[in-house]
Amino acid sequence: MIVEVVLGLVLLAMLWLGWQYWTLRRGIHAMLSAAQRSEALPPTEGMLGELARLLNQQRAALRERLVAANTERGRLAAILDQLADAVIIADAEGRVRFANPAAEQLCGLPLVGRSVVEALRHHQLVDAWRRCRDTGQPQTESLEVPASRQFLQAVIVPDREAHSGALLVVRDLTRLRRLETVRRDFISNISHELRTPIASLKALAETLQAGALSDPEAGPRFLGRIQTEVDALAQLVQELLDLSRIESGQVELIFRRVEPLALLRSAADRMRVQAERAGVSLTVQETPEPLPEVWADETRLEQVLVNLIHNAIKFTHRGGSVTLSAQTQGRTVVFAVRDTGIGIPADELPRIFERFYRVDKSRSGSGTGLGLSISKHIVEAHGGRIWAKSREGEGSIFFFSIPIV
Ligand code: ADP
Repeated sequence: MIVEVVLGLVLLAMLWLGWQYWTLRRGIHAMLSAAQRSEALPPTEGMLGELARLLNQQRAALRERLVAANTERGRLAAILDQLADAVIIADAEGRVRFANPAAEQLCGLPLVGRSVVEALRHHQLVDAWRRCRDTGQPQTESLEVPASRQFLQAVIVPDREAHSGALLVVRDLTRLRRLETVRRDFISNISHELRTPIASLKALAETLQAGALSDPEAGPRFLGRIQTEVDALAQLVQELLDLSRIESGQVELIFRRVEPLALLRSAADRMRVQAERAGVSLTVQETPEPLPEVWADETRLEQVLVNLIHNAIKFTHRGGSVTLSAQTQGRTVVFAVRDTGIGIPADELPRIFERFYRVDKSRSGSGTGLGLSISKHIVEAHGGRIWAKSREGEGSIFFFSIPIV
């Protein structure tokens, strides 16, 4: 009897163990296949269930961290893509492992996989990179590339993650340098332009003080010259103010529909007396068809025309002519001021729209060299373009285009 009971108990225990084994196996099997499909582990009873819960928690935390890291990496990649500075990462062997678009644009070739020497192609930069690699110290280098007339600044720091690797950041400072030069030139030009009339005013005042004031002939003559100098100074200051206001975008343009031929006639009427006094004919060329209206600030555009006509008259001999015309070209109307004057040498032509630029100071009389620069800004603020063609001794044509309404 006892034996039978014991045997029964053993059988029961074996059955229970078999059941447990089968459940465990099924649980592990389910976990394995979930893991193979990269899914969360299924809930199970007992210790295995506890293990699955813990593993699921860690899996969720890991996934969260992975998503955050990916977002961060995406953000970094977008920043590096958009960055104007060139960024290059080189490994310990001196091979480029990463280069952003700015770097490839600066070097003008695909960089990843190339050697740093091949990529940088500038001894100063390569030397700085070698110094950084050998000393483990960050290096800063400023250099000029004569071929492209670029001015660059490079910062090279050791890449602690990759032993002997380096991170290079190269900034193109060419524009900044150029602006600095323009600013310096501008100040020296202004000083120069102011010095001449101020020196003559001083000399004239001293001459008057020394006795010319009571001279019935010289007195009024010197006073007249003082007036001319003061007028020139006032014009210079006014033009400088105009230029700085236009350049800094402070001048608000009032756009309206403007009829091109009406604008030409109005500018010509304003300059008629001056043309007659100079003995130069001034005509507006009519068009067979009416021209489309342009979208413009009428007052400012008339100022451009007056500047161009003023120059055309000034640089044309007595008996010459100045002709104004306009014609459609694509989605713009191109205005033209043509003269039969002294013309502009071909090598000087590209520079005449620069501030203070005068072809030949002796021939430009009382000009400040700012008129064309102001005109250029006005035209560009309209979304147009200004340019000139000229032949020395034969005359010049100044064109500018303004978008049609
Ligand atoms: P300015 O006040 O000296 O006339 P601008 O900026 O209007 O200054 O012109 C710059 C220079 O371009 C002039 O000094 C002159 O040398 C040249 N220039 C401009 N227009 C003409 C023209 N129609 N014919 C010949 N030279 C011209």
